[in-house]
Parts: sequence; C-alpha cells; structure tokens
Amino acid sequence: MTLTFPRFTNWASRRVSLWLLLLALVVVLLGLLVWLAGRYESSMVQSRLEQNASEAVTDIRSGLNRNIQAFQALHARERSIDTWYFPAGQLLNDKRELLRLEWRNEALGMLGFVETPFRMSVFQRLDRDSRLGDLSLTCTAARRLSEAAYSPSYFLPQSDGLGMEVTDMCLPIMEAGRLTGYTVATYSLQNILSELVGKPLSRGLGVSFTEADGTRLALHGTPARGSRVFMAQQLLDLPGATLVVRMENRLGTPALFPNILTALVTAMSLALLVVLLLLGRDMRRRLQVEHDLGEALAFRKAMENSLLTGLRARDLQGRITYVNPAFCQMVGLDAQELLNQSMPSSYWPPELAGIYQRRQEMRLAGNHLPRASHESVFMRRDGTRFAVLIMEAPLINAVGKHTGWVSAILDVSEQRRTEELSRASQDRLQASARLAMVGEMASLLSHELNQPLAAISSYATGSLNLLQEQAEGTLLDGQGRPAPEPLLDDLQLAMRCIAEQAERAGKVIKSVHDFVRRSERVREAVKPRMLLDAIMPLVTLQARKLGVRVVLEVDESCPPVLCDRTMVEQVLLNLARNGMQAMQGGEEKAPALATSVPPEKVLILRIRPAASNAQSQWVEFAVVDCGEGISDEVARQLFTPFFTTKPEGMGLGLSLCRTVIEQHGGFLGYESAHPQGTIFSFTLAVAVRARAEVPAQSALEES
Ligand code: ADP
Repeated sequence: MTLTFPRFTNWASRRVSLWLLLLALVVVLLGLLVWLAGRYESSMVQSRLEQNASEAVTDIRSGLNRNIQAFQALHARERSIDTWYFPAGQLLNDKRELLRLEWRNEALGMLGFVETPFRMSVFQRLDRDSRLGDLSLTCTAARRLSEAAYSPSYFLPQSDGLGMEVTDMCLPIMEAGRLTGYTVATYSLQNILSELVGKPLSRGLGVSFTEADGTRLALHGTPARGSRVFMAQQLLDLPGATLVVRMENRLGTPALFPNILTALVTAMSLALLVVLLLLGRDMRRRLQVEHDLGEALAFRKAMENSLLTGLRARDLQGRITYVNPAFCQMVGLDAQELLNQSMPSSYWPPELAGIYQRRQEMRLAGNHLPRASHESVFMRRDGTRFAVLIMEAPLINAVGKHTGWVSAILDVSEQRRTEELSRASQDRLQASARLAMVGEMASLLSHELNQPLAAISSYATGSLNLLQEQAEGTLLDGQGRPAPEPLLDDLQLAMRCIAEQAERAGKVIKSVHDFVRRSERVREAVKPRMLLDAIMPLVTLQARKLGVRVVLEVDESCPPVLCDRTMVEQVLLNLARNGMQAMQGGEEKAPALATSVPPEKVLILRIRPAASNAQSQWVEFAVVDCGEGISDEVARQLFTPFFTTKPEGMGLGLSLCRTVIEQHGGFLGYESAHPQGTIFSFTLAVAVRARAEVPAQSALEES
C-alpha cells in the first residue's frame, strides 16, 4: 500500500527552503561582520596615521619657528661678521637640519657664511649664485611679509653622485625698523624630517615630503609597499612655499584576522555555523520522524475509516473524546455532535438511560475494569433501537496512566434478528414434535384400545341383558322353561372376559408406551459437560433475549453418564427455559425495583457428583434460578400433565422430564433456592455402573 502526502511534501520543501534562507542570511551576516571588523580596523589605522601626520606637521612648524628665533637672537647679539662666525657655527652644530647659514646685506650680497660640520660643502657642484634668482624672490617676499619666507624646494646635486632636496629660508634683519640685511638658511628636507619630527617613528611607518602630484622629495623611515597602502597627508604651509607631509603605513592591507575582535567575531561565526549545522541535522531527523509519524497516522486514519466496527473513546468523566466514522454511521449522528458529550449520551434509549447512567457511574466510581464484552441497546437518530456488542478496554496513555476507556462496538441487530427467527422456529419445531408425540400416542392408544373396550362393552351389555331378562322372568332354560335363577356361570364367564379385556387394554397401553419409549432409546456414555455444551447455544440465545446471565458451574472431574443424550438434553433445556421464564415473571411483578438498579437475573447450570455420596456413582444436574419460586398451589400439580400457568404453555414439560429421568433410573425433584427462586435437579448414573444395572432394571420394568 503506497500512501502519498502532497501537503506534507509541500511543508517539507518549504521548511528546507526556509533553512536555506536562514543559512544564507547567517553567511551574509557573518561576512558583513568580518567586513565591518576589517573596516573598523582600517579606519583605526587610518585615523592613527592622520593624527601622526598632523603631529609631524606641528613638530616641523614649531622646529622651524624655533630656528627663526635662534637666527634673530644671533643677529641681535652679533653685530659684526667677525664675531658672527663662531655662534653661527655653533648653531649649525646644534641643528643638523641646517646645511648652511649665510649673512647677506640688503642687496643680497654675501657678507659671510658657515656650513654644517657634518658633511662636505653642499654647493660644490652647483654654484650658489645660480640660485640667486629664486633666493631674491624669496627674500623679496620675506621683506614684504616682514618675516621669514621659504623658497620652493630644489634638488642639490652632490659630489658623491647623489643629491638632496633642499629649501632656502630668507629672514630679513631689521634694525630700528630698517632693513640691514638677510639671514639665509639652507635646510635639507630629509634632515627636517629626521630632526624635527619629534616622536620617533614606529617600525613600518614612513614620513616624507611630496609635491602636489605625489612625487616624493625626501623620506624618513621605511617606504610603504603593497597593493593597499595606508596613507595620511597634511599640508605644511610655509610663507612662500607649501609642502605636503605624507605619512605611510608599511603594513599595507590589513590581514584577514587583523586583530582579536575580528578573530573573535570569526570564531563566533564559525561556532554559530557549526550550531546551525547541528540544528539542521537535528531538524532533518525530526522531519524524518514527523514524516514517519504522518505516514503512521494516515495509515491509522485509513484503517479507522474503512472499519465496520464502531470505535469510541471516553475519558474518566465519561465524556466522549473520539469516535470513528463507523460509529457515527451506526448511531446516525455527526462526530461534532458526539464529541465532548457527557452522560446521558444521545444514542441511549431514554427508557434505558437511567440504568445505563447508573451502571456507568458505578463503574467510574469503582474504577472497575469492564467485562471483556457485553451487550447493550443503542438508539439511532430516528429513534430506532438496535442491539450492539460492546468490547471495552482501559485507555492507557504514553506514560502508563489510565485516562479513560476505549470501546469497539458491533451492530449485532441483524444477527440477533436471524437468531431470534431460528429460535422461534426451533421452539415451534419442538412444540410440534411434542404434539406429534402426544398425537402418536393418542392415535395408537385409541386404535389398540378400541377392540378390548368394544369387547368389554359387549360383555357388559350381555351381562346386563341376562340380568334384565331374569328379572322379567322371560329368561328360559334349555328345554324352553323359564329359568328359575340367573345363570351364574354365564355371568361369571362374562365378568372373566371383561377382566381379561381390561388387562389386555392395560397391556396395550404399556406396549404403546414401550413402543414410543423404545423408539428413542439409544443410550451412550456422554461426558456431562457435553450435554451442557449441546444446549448452550439455545440457552444463550434465550438468555440474551430475556436479559439473563448464564453461569456454568461444572465439576470437570465428573465421569461420563449413560443416557439417551437427546432426551436428557431436552430435559436440561426444558428446566433452563422454565427457570429463565420464572425470572422474567418476577421482574414484571416488581415495578418498584425499576427506580434502583434491577437485581441481576442469573441462571446457574451446575453439574457435580451427587451430594449424598462423594464417591457415588451418580451425577447431579441442577438448574438454579432466582425467579418467583413455586407456590404451594402450583406445587400440588407441578408434574401433572397439561398443568401450566403460562398463557402459551402446554404443561407437558415437567411431567415428560420426570418420565425421561425415571426411565434412566434417576430422580427429578425440586427445592426452593435462597433467597429466592427454585432449584430443579436430577440424577443420572455414571456409565460403568449404569451398564451393569440396565438389564436388571429392564427386567424389573418388564415384570
Ligand atoms: P409449561 O412450561 O408449558 O407451563 P411445565 O410442565 O414445564 O409446562 O411447567 C408447569 C408449571 O410449573 C409452569 O407453568 C410453572 O407455573 C411452573 N414452573 C415450572 N418451572 C418453574 C420454576 N423454575 N419456577 C417457578 N415455577 C415453575
């Protein structure tokens, strides 16, 4: 059987796509996190670099200003060129960024100069005068500004084949507001960077002067390399010249794990991914289990729907918690109408609702396990009643707790109807068989008795005639004379004949009786239990109809009995039927009991060794009812043929029963049961002993 679940497949595919979406979102989120962490790291490096660059510019500017103050102080102290050389030389000794210091007059004529002691003269290859034009422009600007001005940087080739980028500074020397000359200082850009940038550069940093187009003029530190270089630029705006200070980070592109934060985020992301994968696996397993459950559920549903047996579950309060379609169809009500319905249920016939409810309450209160199965009557929506067979079992939940009852309900109305029909026809058959037997006996008797009765009648008539004639004197003797007295001899003869005929009639009756009896006499050894088993179907049928519970009490140790099993079965059946009918009558006569739970009608069929002697060779069969009992009036005629108290009764049952049992050598009797009812019992000989006794018994009967 293949079951398909399109809805289930849709759910599963939607769940898978949701999982994929979630996974994609997590991956994007993680990527974003890593990227943001990288960006944050970059921005931190960049801002640190920017700060370094601006600090470097400040350092350079203040260093240059300090130098200007030193130059001014020098000229304020030293008025003649001769005394100027020494302190100027000192100054160059102290300040390594200075290459040369000149004192020029107001027409830029050279008065004197000193050069740095740390290297060879810088103007060896390039004539100093070749730069006069630029210098004059610078000094003009300085004079106009009344402060130091700087020339654009220029390259100064050196005798060792290398060169350096330098810039000239021109500071006007004023005396009492009058220009007396200029101090010209030549700076090495490289040395400005190495001497004036205060903070020692950390490893991997490089600081340089560049032109606006990016051409590097001087560099201090390590030049940056790599595809992505962190770089910060600041303008060093000096009077007359503007330089760009560039700070570079040698490390270049930040690594994939630039710092702990990124590493942490990545580690967490990886952990998240692992958790997601584990969750995904768990979810896959769950899906599989759900799928299996779904299949099992659908299979169960299909089975329930195809069942003809009604199913009903009730909780401990008696409320219906589940019904299957077969049950709904049986009672003609919808599941919605039935669910959560408490007592009395709408399918209980109103006349029985009280009894059902009391039984239900008793069961719920006592928490009794129900009988394996019992019969009941339900009502359809249209009011028709029908018989059902209910099999009830406790409902135990997953943790082993008793949560209610589950019942399987079979509609047995059709079956009961068929059984009832067969029982009725069986009854009719039995009644006609009995009548036929009686009829047969009657016709045989009438036929056989006709002759002796006719003879008796004619002998009696003859005798009467003789007596009459003698009284009238008309009786003549053999010679034609009136007979003097009655002919005693003749009368005696007539009387003897009458007696003979009467005896014959008696024999006829006996022979007819024997004939009827003999025709059915087939004795065999039968286990007592088998006699009961043979009649049980018929007994149960009637018991069910009359609401009687039949109880068997069979002592299995009883030996087989010798009997005509058909006749003895007939006896048992008769006694059982009488017992059940007696209980039926009792209920009708006690309507007051209807308000309480009616006493249970129980019929006990008992077989045991005869009580008189446990070792005895007799087996006792007893039928015990709890019916109305037998009144004295009834008792007097109980075994009289044709005595009955029932409208449809024949009154032959008990008398025939007794005859049959007595024919078997047994005894049939009755006694009152306690607290009410009657016990009819009879005995039968066990097989071994019976065989030994039968010939003797027969001989007795014959005699
Ligand atoms: P029938 O059953 O046709 O009436 P029976 O001979 O079997 O004929 O019974 C005769 C009468 O004896 C019954 O009508 C009934 O009144 C009475 N009787 C028989 N068995 C019982 C019994 N178990 N309890 C009470 N009365 C009984």
